[in-house]
Amino acid sequence: MCGDLSAPNHSSATVEHTAQALIDGFNRRIDYLRMSVTDRCDFRCVYCMAEDMQFLPRQQILSLEELYQVAERFVALGTRKIRLTGGEPLVRQGIVDLCGRIAALPGLRELCLTSNGSQLGRLAQPLFDAGVSRLNISLDSLDADLFRQLTRTGDLHQVIAGIDAARRAGFRRTKLNCVVLKGRNDGELVDLVRFAIDRELDISFIEEMPLGVISEHQRGESYCSSDEVRERLAAHFSLIESAESSQGPARYWRLAEAPQTRVGFISPHSHNFCATCNRVRLTVEGRLLLCLGNEHSLDLKQVLRAHPGDSDRLEKAIREAVQLKPYRHHFEVGGDVQILRFMNMTGG
Ligand code: SAM
Ligand code: SF4
Repeated sequence: MCGDLSAPNHSSATVEHTAQALIDGFNRRIDYLRMSVTDRCDFRCVYCMAEDMQFLPRQQILSLEELYQVAERFVALGTRKIRLTGGEPLVRQGIVDLCGRIAALPGLRELCLTSNGSQLGRLAQPLFDAGVSRLNISLDSLDADLFRQLTRTGDLHQVIAGIDAARRAGFRRTKLNCVVLKGRNDGELVDLVRFAIDRELDISFIEEMPLGVISEHQRGESYCSSDEVRERLAAHFSLIESAESSQGPARYWRLAEAPQTRVGFISPHSHNFCATCNRVRLTVEGRLLLCLGNEHSLDLKQVLRAHPGDSDRLEKAIREAVQLKPYRHHFEVGGDVQILRFMNMTGG
C-alpha cells in the first residue's frame, strides 16, 4: 500500500461546506459514489478478468436492500451522482427495481450506469423508465472477431443492438468506453470515433490500469498512452480542448467536424487527477474504497449487518471512512501489480 497522506496546500475557501457534506482530510468534497452491484459478468475481457474467474458466494455480497441503504445514506450526506457498475450490473437480478428506488432519492441529480451493453436490448427501456439518467457502454472493437477475442465471450452485434436500443429508449449523451491495447485495437481508433459521431455518442479512450493479475498479455507491452491516442486521432480530426471535466481522470476534447461528440481520454497513468477527486467506490462485498489505486477502505457490510437499519451508525462509519481517503494514487506502467483487486470487484 502506498497511499500518499501528505497534504498539499488547500484553501478551505475553495470548497463549499454544508452541515451534511462529506469532506475528506484534504478538503475535497465527496459527492460521487460508484457502486459495484455484482462481481459477475457474462464477458471475460482480457484486461479485466482472468479466464477462469472465481466469483463471490452470494452471502458475501451486499443484498439489494443493503445496496439501497448505502445509496440512501450517501445521498442524505450530499452525494449528487451515483454510478452503478460491476462486473456487469445488468446481470444482477432485480437491478431495474434497485435503479428505480435509488433514482427516486431526493437530492440525487444523476443515476448513471456502466454496462457492457449485452443486456440492453431488453433492459434499456425499463432502465430509462426507472429513472436512470445516463449510460456508459463499453466497446473496444468494431471487428466481430477481435471483439470476441478481447471479451472472450461477447457478441459485437448484440452489443451494437444494445447501443441502438438505448437511443430508442430515450437515453442521450451515452458514452462509449474503449480500453486501448497496443497491437490489438489501436488500429480502430478513427473508426470508433466515426461510429460515435454517426450515433451521436461520446467516446472515451481508457489507458489500461494494473488492476488484478492477468496472464493473457503483459500490461506494460499493451500500454498505449492517451497522448498517443490523441495524436493519432489529430491526424484525422480537428480536436478542440474542452474545459469540461469530470473531476476525475477524464479530459475532454470536441471535434470541429462533429461538435456534438465529445472525445475523452482517461489517463490514470499519465495525468494526475487526484487533487480534484470527488469520488469513492463501494465494492460488491461492501468495502468502501477511498481511492482506486490504494487499498484504504472501510467494511460497511460489517456495519450494515451488525446494526441492521441503523442509519446513524452507517453515517458515522461513512464519515470516518472518508477521512481515510489518501491524497493520491501511484500507478506505474509495467511495474509490479500493486493492486490485487480485479476491476470487476472494484467497480470501474
Ligand atoms: N461491465 C461493465 C462494462 O464493461 O462497462 C461495467 C464494469 S467494467 C469493470 C467498467 C469499465 O472498466 C469498462 O469500461 C472497462 O473497459 C474498464 N476496465 C476494466 N478493466 C480495466 C483495466 N484493467 N484498465 C482500464 N479499464 C478497465
Ligand atoms: Fe465484464 Fe465489464 Fe470486466 Fe468486461 S470490463 S469483463 S464486461 S466487468
